[in-house]
Amino acid sequence: MPWALWPKRNDPKGGNPMSRYFSAKYANLTPYVPGEQPRDKHYIKLNTNESPFPPSPRAQALVAEAAAELALYADPTCKAIRTLAAERLGIDPEEILFFNGSDEALYYAFLAFCDENTPAAFPDLTYGFYKVFADTTGVPFTEIPLREDFTIGAEDYVNLRKTIFIANPNAPTGLALPLEAIESILKANPDNVVVIDEAYIDFGGESAIPLIRKYDNLLVIQTFSKSRSMAGGRLGFAAGSKALIKDLDDLRYSTNPFNINRMSMAAGIGALEDESYFRTCIAAILEARAYTLNALRSLGFTADDSETNFVLAKHPALDGKQTYLDLKEKGILVRHFDTPRLRDYNRITIGTTAQMEAFIAAIRQIMAERL
Ligand code: PMP
Repeated sequence: MPWALWPKRNDPKGGNPMSRYFSAKYANLTPYVPGEQPRDKHYIKLNTNESPFPPSPRAQALVAEAAAELALYADPTCKAIRTLAAERLGIDPEEILFFNGSDEALYYAFLAFCDENTPAAFPDLTYGFYKVFADTTGVPFTEIPLREDFTIGAEDYVNLRKTIFIANPNAPTGLALPLEAIESILKANPDNVVVIDEAYIDFGGESAIPLIRKYDNLLVIQTFSKSRSMAGGRLGFAAGSKALIKDLDDLRYSTNPFNINRMSMAAGIGALEDESYFRTCIAAILEARAYTLNALRSLGFTADDSETNFVLAKHPALDGKQTYLDLKEKGILVRHFDTPRLRDYNRITIGTTAQMEAFIAAIRQIMAERL
């Protein structure tokens, strides 16, 4: 049977493909569902917050060199990239650790800093993988509702006695908490780790990395997937006190010390070296974001200012899911979340200005057809 037709776990129509050997502890696991990556035709992909730009030419050149060395294991200490990234961030190499995408860093944070006695807490509307990691690692969790306006209320995160996970800026809302609010959460939970997931920080908001020496309970996680055009390269990192980083590294050495392959490491070094390319890409995204927000609002959509490379938008007269389907029909993919608080919206990744013009043209057509 082609793998694409293989019945999905928990799919009532498809039956359950779980083997009789699969540990009972995973009986209720609901795996994360990544944004669709269809191959049936060419789409304008505005659904998974990837960069529309290729990785820096410097990154690509270093990958080609690294490919010739694949017979040898990569450096498990990741010394070269840790040293370079630490220098850029103004921290020590022992205060940063690289992972196979920031998803892996988050997973290790669940393994290291949560257990039955130390549950996890995160907003009800946030990155869907937190819940999945909690389930996978057997960690109880609490979801704390966002305020009515989709902002995170720092006052809801006082003395929780839980490991806190906050995406800042948050996804899929695109809204950021000011650093003072992050600091107040760190102070209000001195005996627990507070993980700040900064996947989108290069597009807005203020990084908490400068606070890692002030708060020994702060772990900041970032990724090369979005702002550095490396989603397929799988590179992310955690920054925090030397003790927190050592905890994560001990687990890494107890699982997969070669988690960063030679080519991803080389690409990451090239990306960090090519600062001007990085800045040019960010500037282009911010310009396309401003264009998109203006155009959507002038068509009657509601969308908050975004600090990320996506916007969350709804229209009073258009059904969210139908608009997603209409756009797909026209060759444009956006992300729709079929949950009570989000189903009126679509999350639209910011691509190139030309892609966003095509998106707005498609929206105009849909409005002409539907309204
Ligand atoms: N955190 C957030 C908030 C995200 O949206 C994503 C991307 N889906 C990730 C982490 C994971 O990104 P990656 O594993 O590609 O670094």
